[in-house]
Amino acid sequence: MTEQKTAALKSLLTDPKNIVIIPHKNPDGDAIGACLAIFLYLKKKGHNATITAPNDYPDFLKWMPGTEEVINYESQRESCRNAIDKADIIFTLDFNDLSRIGDLQFALADFKGKYIMIDHHQQPSDYAWLQYSDVMMSSTCEMVWHFLDTLEETHAVDAAIASCLYAGIMTDTGSFRFPSTSSTTHRVVAELIDKGADNAAIHNAVFDSNSPDKLQLLGCALSNLETLPEYHTAIITLNSEELNRHNFKKGDTEGFVNYGLSMKGIRFAVILIESAQEQIIKISLRSKGDFSVNQFARDHFNGGGHINAAGGRSELSLEETKKKFKSLLPLYKDQLS
Ligand code: 5GP
Ligand code: MN
Repeated sequence: MTEQKTAALKSLLTDPKNIVIIPHKNPDGDAIGACLAIFLYLKKKGHNATITAPNDYPDFLKWMPGTEEVINYESQRESCRNAIDKADIIFTLDFNDLSRIGDLQFALADFKGKYIMIDHHQQPSDYAWLQYSDVMMSSTCEMVWHFLDTLEETHAVDAAIASCLYAGIMTDTGSFRFPSTSSTTHRVVAELIDKGADNAAIHNAVFDSNSPDKLQLLGCALSNLETLPEYHTAIITLNSEELNRHNFKKGDTEGFVNYGLSMKGIRFAVILIESAQEQIIKISLRSKGDFSVNQFARDHFNGGGHINAAGGRSELSLEETKKKFKSLLPLYKDQLS
């Protein structure tokens, strides 16, 4: 964010604007936390703000302040289009390429206003008037704090906004343990607690709200776990029959891939999940150290993300996708050992 852009943005926001805020498809805690924080802040400042999500998000995030005002393009298409038609500014949060919002990207075709991107993923596309992109950042929510700080607006952060930001940082850092968690991240988190974020209650709301179905689905996923010691790699799969048997709901498989990485000696973990609705295999990749799953996802599975956490998709069957994944490993033997 240059000084010039900061000044331009400040002046732009001096009178009420129509603003749309968009998270990536299948929004996670960081994406929704950042959107709600910006939304609550802008409303407080007298702007007309709307969050249009590409699709729904998991129930374990629906305690967040403002959550009832989020509209989604899958079920409220007209309302989303109306908000976008009127918008002067669109915030795109926690993603850096418009292909990451699925069909909602087509509703933006005629947008003539200014895009503001706040994001920490690799290789941003060049569409934003104001691009605040930093791949070293723990989370978009941490960046939203720095963004407000640059605007000299952190005084406007109340307990509700602080709670949204805290939840996003907590979920994207694996509860403050991933390498992207810096001393600055902890300083921001300390500020958020001072502003009223109840850290224990937020942890409880996000992580201790499991259903028996979800835990049994985890059991099923773990029983499907396969390790390939030669490549320090772990593979988990879930097919639609297994998902249906455990009444799968959005968000139920969140975090499962990390179990692969929790094993001694494992540096690369993948979960392959059959999506009957989208007719694809959804892929989540995690690594430890220098092995870039962002590059791996871009090169082979039409995806992307961060060095140690990325996602992608496959149009092959579950078995074929698994076969393809395994066949790629010898190419990376050196990097993985
Ligand atoms: P997850 O595996 O939790 O869905 O995603 C891990 C990271 O990769 C997240 O930061 C997410 O935004 C990103 N990601 C997930 N799926 C995709 C994808 O299909 N394309 C791109 N570019 N990024 C993805
Ligand atoms: Mn994020």
